[in-house]
Amino acid sequence: MSRCLALLLAPLLACAPLSAQETRRPNIIVIVGDDMGYADVGFHGCADIPTPHLDALAKSGTRCTSGYVSGPYCSPTRAGLLTGKYQTRFGHEFNPGNGPKQGLPLTEKTLANLLKAAGYRTALIGKWHLGSSADHHPQKRGFDEFYGFLGGAHDYFQPKGVFRGTDPAGKRDENPYLTDSLARESVDFITRNKNNPFFLYLAFNAVHTPLQADEARLKKYAAIADPKRRTYAAMMSAMDDAIGTVTSRLKDSGLDKNTLVFFFSDNGGPTMPGTTLNGSINKPLRGSKRTTLEGGVRVPFLAAWPGVIPAGAVYDPPVIQLDILPTALAAAGVAPPPDSKLDGVNLLPHLQGKEAAAPHPALHWRFGKQMAIRQGDWKLVRHDLAAEGAKGVSPTRLYHLKNDPGESTDLSEKHPDKVQELQTAWDAWNQGNTQPLWGSGLKE
Ligand code: CA
Repeated sequence: MSRCLALLLAPLLACAPLSAQETRRPNIIVIVGDDMGYADVGFHGCADIPTPHLDALAKSGTRCTSGYVSGPYCSPTRAGLLTGKYQTRFGHEFNPGNGPKQGLPLTEKTLANLLKAAGYRTALIGKWHLGSSADHHPQKRGFDEFYGFLGGAHDYFQPKGVFRGTDPAGKRDENPYLTDSLARESVDFITRNKNNPFFLYLAFNAVHTPLQADEARLKKYAAIADPKRRTYAAMMSAMDDAIGTVTSRLKDSGLDKNTLVFFFSDNGGPTMPGTTLNGSINKPLRGSKRTTLEGGVRVPFLAAWPGVIPAGAVYDPPVIQLDILPTALAAAGVAPPPDSKLDGVNLLPHLQGKEAAAPHPALHWRFGKQMAIRQGDWKLVRHDLAAEGAKGVSPTRLYHLKNDPGESTDLSEKHPDKVQELQTAWDAWNQGNTQPLWGSGLKE
């Protein structure tokens, strides 16, 4: 810089209203639990499994009582999360198999792609489940760093199958339990990036099967008689501890006030046969993972950003994990690509009370022969009858969720006009979907 130019700029720089720290773009952390029951967090009233760190996170932000995911299964929800679009728009309706082309379609950009392009350092720590071929590897999909596993589930004690980048992670001497290892890696990533904006996608496999917990945590829950529930409690406790480790490091690093954190479960608890039962409870909701009933798609869901998102608040209108991408982009000051056709919306003005309308006129689901639409308090659904101990898919049923969150009283005969209205709206939405690229949605 010439001396003249420096002299000219000096007064302008001196008048800059905010320090570099104050103008720094927020960090973004998306924490995902796996197969959690709607009832199984303290902030939903869970009595037998304390989740103090999740509760504190909820208290530091806003919890969304009607928080949804767009898939009742692991991989579809993750595809929706990372693209901000219903995964049925691009054929990612079911969990992928191991085929080289089965994974998040390469035509799709991820939240990590978009934030990385904007200068964020990006990491996936935990479960990927969006394709296991080299082309689908997280580091080819926008993540600078990856520590975790590529499939849908993993042994908690066996390091084989855990990778750091593309290399086997090797023996995890200091933390043999996978949930603890994910906490350790997250803290390391945060510490290394405390001076630059980062995006951390922390995708726990807890509390997905296999049901494995460490002895110390199992002892804490000796009073729970059902061994499945006891192990589940210990696994949940490990995840809660890990979340506490992450939030403590944010505070210690002075980053907590400049970090947007989301937490949700990728689908509801697997409470019906054939869904790999884990001891979870979805009450007061009915249904299970793999169903389009509330128990499959309505999940614990919260957003925290001190000073920006109201603390200790409860937000009731329906939101969905598809909203996380546009919300994160808005927080980062990044415009979505013009051709992105997002289904999610920026939740910030809604959570802040600046926008009184609900974020979505309606939410929609398609999972094979199952479907659902929620519009206001009404829900039209065709769901897997295994939730009722029968085979096949139910006839079309209508529920009023405000009066009947457990979907127990079918009102379709009483309100045929409402059935028709919702079916027409769902059909119109479905016009924008494509055929599934793989799978059938039946017991995979
Ligand atoms: Ca899952």
